Amino acid sequence: MARLVIVSNRVASPKERAAKAGGLAVALREALGQRGGLWFGWSGETQTDPPPPKVFRSGRVTYALQTLDPEDQRAHYAGYANGALWPLCHYRLGAISYRRADWLGYRRVSEHFARSLMPLLTPDDTVWVHDYHFIPLAAELRKLGFEGRIGYFHHIPWPTPEVFLTLPSHAALVQDLSHYDLVGLQTEHDVRALLTYISSEAHGWIAPGGVVGLRERRFRILSFPIGIDAAAFVHDAKASVGRDEERRLEASLAGRALAVGVDRLDYSKGLPNKFAAFGELLNAYPEHRSKVTMMQIAPVSREEVAEYRALRRELEELGGAINGEYAEFDWVPLRYLNKAFPRATLAAIYRNARLGLVTPLRDGMNLVAKEYVAAQNPKDPGVLVLSRFAGAADELTGALIVNPYDIEGMAEAFNVGLRMPLEERKERWRANMDKVETNTIHEWCENFIAELSRPVDQFTAGP
Ligand code: UDP
Repeated sequence: MARLVIVSNRVASPKERAAKAGGLAVALREALGQRGGLWFGWSGETQTDPPPPKVFRSGRVTYALQTLDPEDQRAHYAGYANGALWPLCHYRLGAISYRRADWLGYRRVSEHFARSLMPLLTPDDTVWVHDYHFIPLAAELRKLGFEGRIGYFHHIPWPTPEVFLTLPSHAALVQDLSHYDLVGLQTEHDVRALLTYISSEAHGWIAPGGVVGLRERRFRILSFPIGIDAAAFVHDAKASVGRDEERRLEASLAGRALAVGVDRLDYSKGLPNKFAAFGELLNAYPEHRSKVTMMQIAPVSREEVAEYRALRRELEELGGAINGEYAEFDWVPLRYLNKAFPRATLAAIYRNARLGLVTPLRDGMNLVAKEYVAAQNPKDPGVLVLSRFAGAADELTGALIVNPYDIEGMAEAFNVGLRMPLEERKERWRANMDKVETNTIHEWCENFIAELSRPVDQFTAGP
C-alpha cells in the first residue's frame, strides 16, 4: 500500500479531540493512521521569509506545518480563495472581488507548498490535496519532478460554464486541474458542469469512466458525495437523552416545537431567506405563534472579508424585526446564537428539533443535513427541510425539498413539516437514514483513495 500524503489548509492536530476536529479531519487521520502517512498544511502562522515546515510525528502519522509570508497568505486566503473562488463556486457573482495580485499570491502559496513538500515525498507516495485553496499544487509538484499519483477533492460546488467563465483565470485553473490523476467533486451535477466546460470551452475530450483529455494530460473526474460519521452522531444523540443540557433545552422550550438551523455565518447558507421564511410562517399561519421556536446557531466566520461583516449586520436587523413583531412576554420566536457548539451539544439539539432547516442558496454537500438525520429518534423523528441547491438533496430525497428563493414556499414547507403525521415522518426519515448510514465519511475516504490508485490508462485509450 502506497504511503498517503494529505494536503489541506487546516491540519487537525493529533491531540484535537474528535468532537472538535470534525468528521472529515477524523476520517483523514484514520486513513493516515492505517497506511502510515504525512499530513501537510498551513501552521496557522505568518512570518516574512518563512522557515522550512515544522515536522513532528504522532504514532504512524507525520505532520508538517508550513508558515506563510503574511502578504501571500492574505492574497491567497482572504483574497483569491475566499474573495473570488468561494463566491464564484457558490454562484454569487456580485460578491466576487478579483484582483490579479491575489491570483498571483494564490499561486505563490501552492508553489511555496510544493517546494517545502517535495523534499518530504518519496516517488511512490500518493498525494491527496483538499479543497479550493490549493488547486495549482499538482502542477507545481509536477514542475519539481514528482510523478506519483496526485488526487484533488473539491469540497464546494463546481459552477456551470456560464458562471465559471466570469473568472478571469478560468483557463489556467482548469489547466492546473489536469495535472491531477483524479479530480473528485461532490455531485454528478458538479461533474457535468466541469465536463461541459472542458469539452465546450477548453477543447478537451471526454471518454467513459470519467476520463478526460486536456492538451497532453489525461485524468479522471468523478463524483464522491461526502458523508458523515453516522455512528458517532447516533451515539452522541442517544447519549444526550436525559443529560443536563437536554433537560435545560426541554425546560426552555416549555412544550413548544423546536426548529433548528446550524450554519456558519456565510452568505451561501441562505440565512436571510430562512429568517424571512420563518417570519412568513408566523405571519401566514398564525396558529404556530407561541407554539414553535426557531433556534439558529451561526458561528461567525471569515470576518476579514467585508461581505461577511455585512451579512452579520443584516441578520441582526432581520432577527430583531421578527422578534420585535411576534414575541410575547413568555415567548421569543427566534433564538439567534453567534457561537459554535461541540458535536455532542449539536446532537442533543438536533434530536429535540421537530424541524431541521437547511436552506442554503448553494452548498457543496451540507453535512448538517446529514447530521440532523442521524441524530433523530427513530420512534419520533423530526422533518428535514432541505434546499434543492445543497448537494445533499441528491441523496436525502425523504426531505421536504424547497427553493430558498421562494420565501412563501419555504414557509409552507415549514408548516407541512410541523403538522406531518408520525407515519410519514418515519417513512421519510428511514429513506434519508439509509443513505446517511451507507455512505459514511469512512466509505467516502476509502472510495476516493481506491479510485486514485487506479491508473487512468486502464479505462480507455482516448477518443
Ligand atoms: N459545526 C459544529 N459546531 C457548530 C456549528 C457547526 O461543530 O456550532 C459543524 C457541523 O456539525 C458540521 C460542520 O460544522 O459538521 C459544517 O459543515 P457543513 O457541510 O454543513 O458546512 P460548511 O461549514 O462546511 O460550509
